[in-house]
Amino acid sequence: MKTKQEYIESLKARNIRLYIKGERIAPEAVPDHPFIRGHVNCAAMTYELAQDPLHADLMTATSHLTGKQINRFTHIHQSTDDLLKKVRMLRLISQKTGSCYQRCVGLDALNAIYTVSYETDQKYGTDYHERLKKYLLYWQENDLMVVGGMTDPKGDRGLRPSQQEDPDMFVRVVDRNEKGIVLRGAKMHMTGMANSHEMLVMPTMAMGEADKDYAVCCALPVDAPGLIHVFGRQTNDDRKLEGEIDQGNANFGIVGGETLTILENVFVPWERVFLCGEYDFTGLLVERFACYHRQNYGGCKGGVSDIVIGATALMADMSGYAKAAHVRDKLNEMIHMTETLYACSVACSAQGAKTASGAYYVDPLLANVGKHNVTKLIYDIDRLAQDIAGGITATMPSEKDMNSPEIGMYIEKYLKGVASVSAEDRMRVARLIENMTGGVALVESMHGAGSPQAQKVMYAKLANLEHKKECALQIAGVKRKQ
Ligand code: SF4
Ligand code: FE
Repeated sequence: MKTKQEYIESLKARNIRLYIKGERIAPEAVPDHPFIRGHVNCAAMTYELAQDPLHADLMTATSHLTGKQINRFTHIHQSTDDLLKKVRMLRLISQKTGSCYQRCVGLDALNAIYTVSYETDQKYGTDYHERLKKYLLYWQENDLMVVGGMTDPKGDRGLRPSQQEDPDMFVRVVDRNEKGIVLRGAKMHMTGMANSHEMLVMPTMAMGEADKDYAVCCALPVDAPGLIHVFGRQTNDDRKLEGEIDQGNANFGIVGGETLTILENVFVPWERVFLCGEYDFTGLLVERFACYHRQNYGGCKGGVSDIVIGATALMADMSGYAKAAHVRDKLNEMIHMTETLYACSVACSAQGAKTASGAYYVDPLLANVGKHNVTKLIYDIDRLAQDIAGGITATMPSEKDMNSPEIGMYIEKYLKGVASVSAEDRMRVARLIENMTGGVALVESMHGAGSPQAQKVMYAKLANLEHKKECALQIAGVKRKQ
């Protein structure tokens, strides 16, 4: 397993083509760029904690291929216990970072492709699963950080991929020969791309026969020739070019750090291709990936909300209103919602089941319910945080004002709450709340791992409405007409 330092050093060796605000960043300078550094630190926590014997049970696993101890982020789930440990691991890392450590997406893609490649081979006699197992060995041996690349730009949402005016609106195979395939298109919202080693390309939705060229799944290094990454802007990101306090969470940033990744005629050798043209398996792959990823959210957002609750309670302490009954009541509400999120992730893991490949898969219905709750309850949790923390989170002067020899004493004097706490400490906590409850953090809760409507579509498919009707008919004593 890689150490934190080895992980960071390994990023400098990539020849990645990355742009930030219109400028190309020198590849070796990418991990230390102010816009990227926090995301690197966050992902590095997945390496650092795996080295700590205290967390070995959650952070590491035994490879089913080699029997060696590996980082859990490279593991194929072998039991419901593995699924549960994943959720507990995510809550732990969220509590340490308060942000997104990005590595779950690749893990989820890996498990999804593992199960689907097996089933594809069963039907078509292909050897995708064996190829994936070889790739998995490489992944585990090198303790890689891998992006799960699913979302395409999608162009006109009313049209199928093959009907688009611009055929590149979904990633597709534009050429193939005996050595491999050539891809063109783009992937959007690519969490963790700037600080990963590899990316997995997956289809974004179920493809039909006309969309065969779009039914492709493969792996490639993030610095493969023809890949261009454009780093996305975040709320208040220019604060990263200034001091520390105004960032709120200077060490770990906010959410994942996403890119628009353009694939301009990128070559992928056959040994890294895990689906190519078998369009009837694309829907299954999307569903498996989505459900594995939705499983995470009660662990990930549960841990993030632990920090929001802690910061909110601190703000009440520091401001002198912690004993107010309504504040205590609101904190309890926040705890209730946080544990509700966590409960769904635990439940969908406990009710997981073995797939044909041998890997374990979550209960898809419960995983969707959990993610859907996140799209609502995080807003409620954050609303209460802002309610309790007060308007100061949105109107505070800057760190530079605090350090000004001319006006700094006024900031110290008037930004104070209770006498025992400095204005700076109170401002730090307020900035943390601002960072964690605003802008990009909320949007991520809404759309990360799929927008709410994507979960509702799954209910219709998985909830067996007919069975519910049968139950009701039975109780009501109504006989169905034949
Ligand atoms: Fe992992 Fe997604 Fe949570 Fe980021 S937002 S920590 S990728 S589950
Ligand atoms: Fe996400």
